[in-house]
Amino acid sequence: MSDSASRLSIVELQKDYRSGKRSPAEAVNDIIDSIQSRDEKLGAYISFDPEAALKEAEASDVNLPLGGVPIAIKDLINVEGQPCTCASRFLDSSYTSTYDATVITKLRRAGAIPLGRTNMDEFAMGSSSENSGLKPSANPWDIERVPGGSSGGSAICVASDTAIAALGSDTGGSIRQPASFCGCVGLKPTYGRVSRYGLVAFASSLDQIGPITKTSQDAALLLSVISGGDPRDSTALDADVPDYSNSLSGDVKGLRVGLPKEYFTSGIDPGVKTCIDDAISHLEKLGAEIVEVSLPHTEYAVATYYIIATAEASANLARFDGVRYGNRATSHDGILDHYRLSRAAGFGDEVKRRIILGTYVLSSGYNDAYYVRAQKVRTLIRNDFATAFSEVDVIVSPTAPTTAFKAGEKSSDPLQMYLADIFTIAANLAGICGASTPCGTVQSDTGTALPVGLQILGPHLSEGTVLRITDAFEKTTDWHRQRPPSQ
Ligand code: GLN
Repeated sequence: MSDSASRLSIVELQKDYRSGKRSPAEAVNDIIDSIQSRDEKLGAYISFDPEAALKEAEASDVNLPLGGVPIAIKDLINVEGQPCTCASRFLDSSYTSTYDATVITKLRRAGAIPLGRTNMDEFAMGSSSENSGLKPSANPWDIERVPGGSSGGSAICVASDTAIAALGSDTGGSIRQPASFCGCVGLKPTYGRVSRYGLVAFASSLDQIGPITKTSQDAALLLSVISGGDPRDSTALDADVPDYSNSLSGDVKGLRVGLPKEYFTSGIDPGVKTCIDDAISHLEKLGAEIVEVSLPHTEYAVATYYIIATAEASANLARFDGVRYGNRATSHDGILDHYRLSRAAGFGDEVKRRIILGTYVLSSGYNDAYYVRAQKVRTLIRNDFATAFSEVDVIVSPTAPTTAFKAGEKSSDPLQMYLADIFTIAANLAGICGASTPCGTVQSDTGTALPVGLQILGPHLSEGTVLRITDAFEKTTDWHRQRPPSQ
C-alpha cells in the first residue's frame, strides 16, 4: 500500500505520469484497491464503477491539465449515465443522469476521470452526513465520530486515501466543515465562480461547487479547470479565470488579516482555540499583519441562513413529485395523494423538516415577517463583510467551533446541529469565497487525535489570495500531511 497512487496529491500523481513512473490505469487500479479495502467501514462512496473508470484511464492523455487524474464526485452532481442519488431514498437506483453537469464537462475536457459518487447528507441538508438516507459514514480519524457534512463522503475519501481529490458543494459550509473535520483542504468559491448547471439545487442563491483536496496546490488546479461563465447558468460569472496555481507564491508578507471580534468571544472549544491562536501567530511570523475587525450582524447569521435556505429548498424540492423523478407511489387516491405518498416515503426527516419550515416562512402572512426580513438581514451581513474588506485582505477564523463530534451527539437536536455552522454560513449569505486548511489536532476524550481547520475568507473573486495564504501555511507546516492513524 505504501507506494499506492491513492496516497498521492494531484500534483504528485501528475509528476509520476509525466516521468513514466506510473500510468493512469495503474493509478485507478490502486484507488479501486484502496476503496475495496477501506471503504466498507468508512462509507465514503455511495457507488463507483471500476470498469468504466479503468476504460477512461486507458484512453486518457496525461498531457492535458488533469489528464488521467481520477476525481470523486459528490452524489448530487450529474454525470451522464450514472446514478445521482443525493443520498436520498427518493432517487436511489431509480434515477440515472441524462447529462453531464458543466463542472463534469470541464473536468472531462481537462482529461480528468470522474471516479465514484460520494456519500452526503440527503440533498446536502446537514452538517454531519448522518442525514444520508442511504448509508452511514464515519470519520477516518475516529470511526465513532462524524466526518462532517454535507460533503462528508468527499472529505472522507480524500483523508483516507481512497481518492486523490473530490468535488463537494457548499451551501452553508458543506465543503469547508467536513474538510476541517477530516483534515483536508476545502474551498468554497465565490458565488458564480463555478457553474451550478447540473448540480441538484438545494438553495440556489447559496450553492457552490468546489474542491476538497490534500493540498491548496491541488485546489488551485481543480478550481482553474471548473471555474468560468456558462450560458446554461445565468448566475455563473463571466469573469476571467486565472491559472490559480500562479497565485501560490508562498509569500504573505504585508497581507492584512482580519480577526472578527464577534467570532472570538465564546463557544469555541478550547483545544480548537489554541490551534487557531497558534495558526494566527504563524501567519504573523510569515509577515502577515493581524488586525481586529468587526462583523456586527454575526449573531443573526444562523437564523437568516435557516430561513433563506429552507425557503429556497422548499421551492427547489417541489420538483420531486413522484411523476418526473424517482420514487413513485404505486397505489394512490388521485394526483394529490400520489404526490403526498411519493414524497412521504422518499424524503428523510431532515428534508421534510426543511420543506415544512421553508413553506411556512414563505406562506402568505408570514412572508414579510420571516423571508423578506431575512433578505434584509442578509444585506446587512453582506455589508459587514464589504466594510471589513475595505480594511483587510482576508478574514481568519476557526472553520468550526469544535472538532468532529460523536455520531448521534447532535442528531436529535437540530438547533445544536445548526449552531455548528456559525463560522461558515455567513460567507454563503455574502457570496464571498473561503477555504479551510488543516492547522492542528486536538486529543479527544478517548485519546484520538482530531484535526482542526483554519478558515480564510476573502472578498468576491479573491480565491487567488485565499489560496496563496493557505498554501503559504501548508508550505511552512505539515498539518495537511498528517494522516488518520490507520493509514
Ligand atoms: N449545514 C448546513 C445545512 O444543513 C449547510 C449545508 C450545506 O452547505 N450544504 O444547511
